[in-house]
Amino acid sequence: MNEEIKAELLPSFEHFIDKGWYVLGDQVKQFEKDYADFCTTKHTVGVANGLDALIIALKTLNIGPGDEVIVPSNTYIASWLAVSYVGATPIPVEPRIDTYNINPNLIEAAITSKTKAIMPVHLYGQCCEMEAIMNIALKHHLFVVEDNAQSQGATYNGQITGSFGHINGTSFYPGKNLGAYGDAGAITTNDEQLYHRANVIRNYGSQKKYYNEIKGINSRLDELQAGFLSIKLNHLNKWSKQRNHIASLYNQMLHGVGDVVTPELANGATSVYHLYVIRTNKRDELQQYLNTHELGTLIHYPLPPHLQEAYQELGYQKGDFPLAETIADTCLSLPLFPGLTDGQVEQVCNTIKQFYHG
Ligand SMILES: *Cc1c(COP(=O)(O)O)cnc(C)c1O
Repeated sequence: MNEEIKAELLPSFEHFIDKGWYVLGDQVKQFEKDYADFCTTKHTVGVANGLDALIIALKTLNIGPGDEVIVPSNTYIASWLAVSYVGATPIPVEPRIDTYNINPNLIEAAITSKTKAIMPVHLYGQCCEMEAIMNIALKHHLFVVEDNAQSQGATYNGQITGSFGHINGTSFYPGKNLGAYGDAGAITTNDEQLYHRANVIRNYGSQKKYYNEIKGINSRLDELQAGFLSIKLNHLNKWSKQRNHIASLYNQMLHGVGDVVTPELANGATSVYHLYVIRTNKRDELQQYLNTHELGTLIHYPLPPHLQEAYQELGYQKGDFPLAETIADTCLSLPLFPGLTDGQVEQVCNTIKQFYHG
């Protein structure tokens, strides 16, 4: 994949060296425009990474100490950390076991007088059930902040991720579907005022140099990464199609194999398959078996946030969020990346069949 676009990336690198402008220059502006167009939003603000994107989004909404933000119980810890970093409290809501995404039917029961926002996470590449989530937010006057780190290009009822919430964060960490060559992230919004605030917060709270309107932070997207990202963005839809093709092969070939449960899409949702996550009660043995056949797999994620040492303060126990715990104990991410061949997918599936049926 890198070979394929290397020839396109090198001129961008040369432009960068010649120009000698390293932060908040024309390549960042161009990428912000390109990514906003991709997400069908009015604005994008490039930032240093995905966690910062979520933190700045929450700060932009003035969410802070005493406030609660609803998050999935089974997400990557960054979603929770963003809430904690602004001083608010993450309130976990369980996912649907078939789609792995937050269950909209359970959200209302978690809303209190302190709730300020819902943070849906489009986990493993699938867009959450955004119509139901937006309706709940509207009814209870809550903000929605999408965590779109894993799902650039996925849709619900034809609308693209990063365009539903009031202000949303995404990550261009190298391992994400749209990966930079280092850390990078972005915020998307349709709201003019939120855009202005986010834009200022990422640059020390300053628009006019040395005059600070807000206590901001330093979280800028750098020119080099922005230039690379604009180029890679042109390939993203093609890569997402390849990911969907690989996922459909897995779905077909793993159907009815042992106790393997393949991932489901919610009605109206599409996925860009950041990950292809199956479940099995023999997860550790299967992973070991695949390992001995030189097939690398990963676990996303082995321990849910509520059971992490970092979140002891919230006082949760094992059993408090059983679906998140079940997913953590049974999930396995199979190899999936653009460039993986049909033959390689078949080899993975055959090895899994061997594991169950000898
Ligand atoms: C990767 C990720 C983040 C954080 O992005 P970074 O760029 O690594 O800071 C946030 N949320 C989710 C769901 C992620 O997968």
